[in-house]
Amino acid sequence: MKVLIVGAGIAGCTLALALDKAGLESHIVEARPGVDTGGAFLALAPNGVNALRTLDLGGIPETAGGFVLSGLDFRNAKGRRIAQLDGEQDEARYGAPSILLQRARLQRELASRVSAAGIRTDFDTRVLDVVQDAAGVTATLDAGDTVRADALVGADGIFSTIRQLAWPEAQPPRYTGIIDCGGWTDVDLPETARQQMHFGREAFFGHAIRNGTAYWFSNFPRSQEPERAELDRIEGPAWMSQLRALHAADPAPIPGILAAATDSAGAWPIYDLPDPDEWSTSRICLIGDAAHAMSPSAGQGASLAIEDGVVLAQSLRDHNDPSPALERFVQARKPRAEKIVKFGRQIGERKISSAASNVVRDLGLPLFLRMGARATADQYGYSVEWDADAHTSL
Ligand SMILES: Cc1cc2nc3c(=O)[nH]c(=O)nc-3n(C[C@H](O)[C@H](O)[C@H](O)COP(=O)(O)OP(=O)(O)OC[C@H]3O[C@@H](n4cnc5c(N)ncnc54)[C@H](O)[C@@H]3O)c2cc1C
Repeated sequence: MKVLIVGAGIAGCTLALALDKAGLESHIVEARPGVDTGGAFLALAPNGVNALRTLDLGGIPETAGGFVLSGLDFRNAKGRRIAQLDGEQDEARYGAPSILLQRARLQRELASRVSAAGIRTDFDTRVLDVVQDAAGVTATLDAGDTVRADALVGADGIFSTIRQLAWPEAQPPRYTGIIDCGGWTDVDLPETARQQMHFGREAFFGHAIRNGTAYWFSNFPRSQEPERAELDRIEGPAWMSQLRALHAADPAPIPGILAAATDSAGAWPIYDLPDPDEWSTSRICLIGDAAHAMSPSAGQGASLAIEDGVVLAQSLRDHNDPSPALERFVQARKPRAEKIVKFGRQIGERKISSAASNVVRDLGLPLFLRMGARATADQYGYSVEWDADAHTSL
């Protein structure tokens, strides 16, 4: 069986590596001119780390410069800790810790394993059209060539072309009303074992400090959806002035981190995907953000993308026919992903509550987080048995 994968992001690369482990052939086409180096940093949750280990890729987070996070402290606008999520027992409970790492380094590590495995990746190549018939699927590329495969997987991110082609009626991604900015900068501040999450006066700020580097992000409300080009036109120093003003009245060390930072790694409007009815036809399937893009507030985007790659390869390995393989994959994955998209949306809504409602939010937050801790156990506790038969295990 030959699988055409559209998109060499975290989902696409993981799927290619998992198919290789399953002894199946794949071919990736990627619109970007080379290995993507964009983005700030992300958290790989224990379930994501365990999914990488399933593919014998458990060394990647460390090689990519990741470091262990032992939980989250939530603080109000005065800096007082109002709730915490304890991650010290993650290794004992789930078999793996949560790891924070630069997105570009994770991406590069995965891409280098794809290349080392001899899996063909055509960069600077965009899929423009897809036609499915009884015997296979044909993709038309932007240079006019076509590629034929037994199955096609859209791992092409939140604005997925494959989703639009296969399900023209599907709802577009939903702008959540939040802009995300972030980066890393050298600081002379003590290390944080846990990631610090501050509900600031006007915006939300998160940071973790390791080896003299602060990894920080700011989420601030903006009701009107911005044009991508509009954000790209704003230069680093202008972003930094805006962020310093937004967080000027917030407690230490926030203003100090922003004073030291000279630039943000970028600015991204946050979207998520209203639950799409379908992820698969008999030969086309969506994975990763293309299927279930979620707010980064969930801390699960990359981890679920990796899980998808493992589970889909396992399903294709164990069914001779793509149709039941894709169907079983969707049955196994959709309820889990939908629950986590909803969880991310609920957290995001709490980040942008108005100043007047901050008091109410702060009072309700500990209870919300206790409920969140149960959801987190469900998310972190997921693991895939590679050798199990997908007919029965999915
Ligand atoms: C530039 C960028 C920066 C990010 N930064 C962060 C971050 O800082 N923190 C965080 O938590 N998450 C970040 N994310 C999101 C996170 O990486 C994803 O949620 C998660 O890894 C799931 O990835 P994915 O592989 O499903 O999708 P993506 O990572 O979006 O990968 C999709 C790939 O498909 C390619 N593609 C799209 N359309 C086509 C087409 N028609 N033909 C061929 N190829 C196509 C894209 O170029 C892209 O490489 C970022 C994503 C991107 C793209």
